[in-house]
Amino acid sequence: MSTAKRVDEPSQKGGSKKHFKQVEVSKKDRSIAMARSAEVKNLDRDYFAVKDSIPTGFKLHGQYLEARKRILGVLGGTEENWNSYLWQLKNRIGDVGVLARIINLSDEEIARIRRAGAHYRWGISPYYASLMDPEDKRCPVRRQAVPSIREVQDASEVRDPMIIKYNSPAPLISRLYPDRLIINVTNACSMFCRHCLRRKDIEFKDVTYPKKMIDEAIHYVRENEEIRDVLLTGGDALALSDKQLDYILTRLDKIPHVEIKRLGSRMPCVLPQRITPELCRMLGDHDPIYLNTQFNHPKEVTPEAREAVDRLTRSGVVVRDQTVLLRGINNNPHIMKKLMQELLRIKVAPYYIFNCKKVEGIRHFRAPIADGLNIIEHLRGYTSGMAVPTFIITAPEGRGKTPIYPQYYLNPDMNGEALIRTWGGHVLHYEDEHVAPFGFEEEE
Ligand code: SF4
Repeated sequence: MSTAKRVDEPSQKGGSKKHFKQVEVSKKDRSIAMARSAEVKNLDRDYFAVKDSIPTGFKLHGQYLEARKRILGVLGGTEENWNSYLWQLKNRIGDVGVLARIINLSDEEIARIRRAGAHYRWGISPYYASLMDPEDKRCPVRRQAVPSIREVQDASEVRDPMIIKYNSPAPLISRLYPDRLIINVTNACSMFCRHCLRRKDIEFKDVTYPKKMIDEAIHYVRENEEIRDVLLTGGDALALSDKQLDYILTRLDKIPHVEIKRLGSRMPCVLPQRITPELCRMLGDHDPIYLNTQFNHPKEVTPEAREAVDRLTRSGVVVRDQTVLLRGINNNPHIMKKLMQELLRIKVAPYYIFNCKKVEGIRHFRAPIADGLNIIEHLRGYTSGMAVPTFIITAPEGRGKTPIYPQYYLNPDMNGEALIRTWGGHVLHYEDEHVAPFGFEEEE
């Protein structure tokens, strides 16, 4: 048991009558504490040894600015153009000849991109292209953006992982849970992520859904009083214009039982220029809004992303991250820890890590569930609790998100004691309660 005690001592300066409290620690306890500190420091020595070598968007920013100049030269744009999301969308790179002037591609790679691109739509915002390593084909940004021949090698996979047909009680709606639902407001995106689960919806053409369908979806929300949380997604919710979004949010605000609105958007990561002051002002008028975004590698966490998130948070929007576990990109505990720490630095709260689903064309990105569990084991306790998202697998048949946790509660039935495993690997007895203490219920 500790021998530490609290003592009161007078303030040293200015003869003030204020007192401060200090904990007096005996020499023996101090030496125990020092040994414990050395022990916990040692627990994460593998990460401390490599963390500074993991590339991040902040460290690489000089290279990104050079790439920006090169890309502006290829596309014939100006710095002012670069900061316009409309210019970025208009100049989305979807031609392999243009791409070959931005990153180095062999003739064979060019042929493979053409083949994969004939099956699945592709397009890269110039901003996101500036984060790609022009020489390294294993670059984690490049892998998420440039089509791979592997996409056309697994045609046996499932096309509709969300099982929309069983979960859509009204146009554009997906409902899997008691108190919340999704309205799929668009199929458009600023770029087409190679690991996208929704590639079936994205197809080859952006679709603006008729206002009548949007109104019918809102009508369903109005008629179902238990719905307190509405997620607008697609595609990417911020692919809608400010005016279209304002239309939907204004109508949702008028429904008394809708308590919060959520937006699903990858724009803070892949096109931060979309987060304009005008958009943020409009979103600020529809408080409370949560925006769930998707960063998958520390290379994506850039000063531009930080500014975009800053504009959102200053308008009152809460920003959280939903990373996808991707083989060869982030299925590594050190990379994932760095990513979560970088996200907290820019005020994005880690929320989920999703296991990649079986979807046609993306099998090469799938990592085993064990990789996700291993990542959570290396996060919990080893870094801030705020940096530990929930690892999720989406259940088959559209049955919803299922959390997968490491086992810390080892034995629940030991005559008033439980057996627990701590994050650091200690197995300990823990005094449990079988009944309410002190006859609490009887007193009431
Ligand atoms: S932004 Fe989202 S919906 Fe759009 S392609 Fe990427 S992962 Fe898919």
